[in-house]
Amino acid sequence: MTSEPIIYEGKAKIMKIIGDIAEMTFKDSLTAFNGKKRSSFDGKGAINAEISYILFKLLEKHGVNTHLLSRKDEKTLVVKKLEMIPLEVVVRNYVAGSLRRRVLLEEKSKLPFPIVELYYKNDELGDPMINSYHARLYGISEDTISEIEDKALRVNEILTKALESVGIILADFKLEFGYYKDGKIILGDEISPDTCRFWDKETMRSLDKDVFRFDLGDVRKAYLEALERIRNVKI
Ligand code: UDP
Repeated sequence: MTSEPIIYEGKAKIMKIIGDIAEMTFKDSLTAFNGKKRSSFDGKGAINAEISYILFKLLEKHGVNTHLLSRKDEKTLVVKKLEMIPLEVVVRNYVAGSLRRRVLLEEKSKLPFPIVELYYKNDELGDPMINSYHARLYGISEDTISEIEDKALRVNEILTKALESVGIILADFKLEFGYYKDGKIILGDEISPDTCRFWDKETMRSLDKDVFRFDLGDVRKAYLEALERIRNVKI
């Protein structure tokens, strides 16, 4: 007898967990500033599902373990069920977003080396930035943090190079990791214009959620342009 699926609905995705696997369905809704700004457009879920699918496959090809199993339909990826580690792991190559409040460097300037930041996923605290000492309070060991940071930097190397080949600068992005049933740490969640800053190499124009956040133009067009370019990444 199979058990009843467990369903979680978030701002951008619906997770349907069936035993050891999960179906991750991407929604057309778009939110920013902690859900204070909301919108949606037709096809957004399908765009994010396809971009995540292509980039997870690329990472797998380069030896990074991800939760991806297959693509079920336009908007749905089938993934391994993970026990998620409650961290948002941000990698930055350029100055943008909240980093501007921490460094005296000009917006859109290139960092001399990638910066990794950890945020504790907690609504009550508003997802604060933390370090490995704070993480230990939540049962996440220093070894786990160090493994996650190494993996995030490896993802950065692979994605930076692949996106560069299609004229996209990967300014920054957010990853989430989890434990698979064998105890291995695996990359989960999504990699999409919702969770990355993609800039056109020539003009530094945004091809991501910043178009929505800051009303920079046609958000659908920006997401579609990111997808069309990412489809040309050589796998
Ligand atoms: N990010 C995300 N989810 C979050 C917070 C940030 O996917 O809850 C991504 C964001 O799209 C960007 C990177 O992480 O690519 C760094 O975000 P930042 O800290 O600059 O925050 P923002 O100013 O984007 O809110």
